[in-house]
Amino acid sequence: MPAYKVAIVGAGPAGYFTAQAFQNAQTEDLTFAIDMVERLPTPWGLVRSGVAPDHPKIKTVSKVFEKIAKTEGFRLFANVEVGKDVSLKDLRERYDAVVLATGSPRGRKLGIPGEELANCISAAEFVPWYNAHPDYVNVEVDLDTDTAVVIGAGNVAMDVARILAIDPSELDLTDTAEHALVEFKQSKIRNVIICGRRGAEHAAFTAPELRDLPKLENTDVYVDADQINQAASRIEQLGEVEKDLRNNLEAMRLIAEHDKKGFERKLEIKFLSAPIEIKGRDKVEEIIFAINEVKDGKVITTDKTFTIKAGLVVTAIGYDSVEYAGINIENGRISNIAGHVDHNVYVTGWAKRGPVGVIGTNKSDSNDVVELIISNLTEPKVSEGVSSLLKSGHEVIDQLSWEKINASEVISGELAGKPRIKEVDWKRLISLGRY
Ligand code: NAP
Repeated sequence: MPAYKVAIVGAGPAGYFTAQAFQNAQTEDLTFAIDMVERLPTPWGLVRSGVAPDHPKIKTVSKVFEKIAKTEGFRLFANVEVGKDVSLKDLRERYDAVVLATGSPRGRKLGIPGEELANCISAAEFVPWYNAHPDYVNVEVDLDTDTAVVIGAGNVAMDVARILAIDPSELDLTDTAEHALVEFKQSKIRNVIICGRRGAEHAAFTAPELRDLPKLENTDVYVDADQINQAASRIEQLGEVEKDLRNNLEAMRLIAEHDKKGFERKLEIKFLSAPIEIKGRDKVEEIIFAINEVKDGKVITTDKTFTIKAGLVVTAIGYDSVEYAGINIENGRISNIAGHVDHNVYVTGWAKRGPVGVIGTNKSDSNDVVELIISNLTEPKVSEGVSSLLKSGHEVIDQLSWEKINASEVISGELAGKPRIKEVDWKRLISLGRY
C-alpha cells in the first residue's frame, strides 16, 4: 500500500510530536509521508522563541526534533505560510490528513484602561523579542525605569520576571537575542514585581520553577510569608491537599524564608492583586490594583486598592490562537472535537487544547490525535504535495537548508562561548540556508 500523505502545519513541539506519533505508528502495511509546513524560516517553535534563554536544558528536546526530522519520509517546508503561500483548502485536497499545530501566538488582553499605553507589553511580544523571533525584533521595549510589573502568576510571568530581574551578565553565555542583550545591559530595572490576582494556592507556577528562584546569584526574591501561610490554612480547611499544590506552597515558603543577601536586584511575588487601571501620560507610569480576598474558597474583590509606580508592565495572562482562512476560533482555540476539526483536518497542541501544559504534554496529546486520524483513514490519496502548490522561485527552507542555518548559528555562538547566536533577519536566514 502506498504511504498516506500527511501535512503538519507548524514546526513547534506539537508538530514534531505529531510527526513522531505517525512514525511510531508505522508498520509494513501502514506508512506515512510527512510534510511539515512552517511559516518561519526556522523550525522548533516555542523551543526556539519561547523557552527562557537561561533555561537551556529545556531546549535539549530539539535533539529529539532533529531525530524525527531525519527519519525517512519526513520533509520540512519552512518559509511557507498557510493562508498566503498555500491554502488550507489546497492542503486538505492533496493530503490524507492535515494536522494544525499552529499554537496560540496572540497574547490575551487585560481589558482595563491604560493597557494601550506605551511600555505595556504582552509576554506574547516580549518573550519572542528577547528570543530573536524575526517578527518581534522591532518591539519597543523601554527598560529605563527602576520598577517593572509582570501581571499573571504562571510560568511565563516567572520567566519574564526572572529575565528582567537577573544581572544581564548571567545571559552572556546564553542564546538571548543580541539586540535584547544590549538593552538588558543598559536596563535600570532593579525591582520586578509579579502580581497574581488570586491567592498563592491558585498560582499557576510549578514547583521546580519556584525552587530555582532562591538560587539566583544576583537577585533577592521576596514573597510575603503571611500570604503563603494564609493560603495553606485556607486549603487545609477545604480538605485533602493535592501533592502539586502542597509542593508549590512549600516552594513559596522556602522563598519567603530564604536569607536575603541585600542585592540591589529584587524580584517580588504578590498575590490577591488584580490590576484595574494603568496610568501614564505618554507611557506607563503606575498601575492601580484592587486588593482581592479569598472567602469560603472564592476570590472576591474588595474596595481597597494600592498603586505601584512602574515604567514597564508585561502581561503574561495566557494566549489565543490566531485566525486564518478555513478555520474557526472558539474560546481562543481552533474549534475541534477531541482534535478533529473538519473532514480530514485535525488540530493538536495549544491550538487544540489552549495554552496549557509543558512541552512534553504535547506528546500524549499528539499520540491521541494520530490514533484518531489513523482510525479515520480510507484509501491513500495520489497527489503531489506542497512543492507543486508554491509559486516558482519560492525559497523553501527544507531540512538541509535548516541544518545549514543551524550550523551557522552554532558556529557563531562557539566563538562567543554561547550555544548559538540567533540570526533575526528573515532574508539573512534564507540566505544562510542556501545550498
Ligand atoms: P498560565 O499558567 O495559564 O498562567 C496565566 C496566569 O495569568 C494565571 O495566573 C492567571 O490567573 C493569570 N491571568 C489570566 N487572566 C488574567 C487577568 N485578566 N488579570 C490578571 N491575571 C490574569 O499561563 P502561562 O504562564 O502563559 O503558561 C502557559 C503554559 O506554559 C503553562 O502550562 C505553563 O506551565 C507552561 N510554561 C512552562 C514553563 C516551564 O516549564 N519552565 C515555562 C513557561 C510556560 P488565574 O489563574 O486567576 O486565571
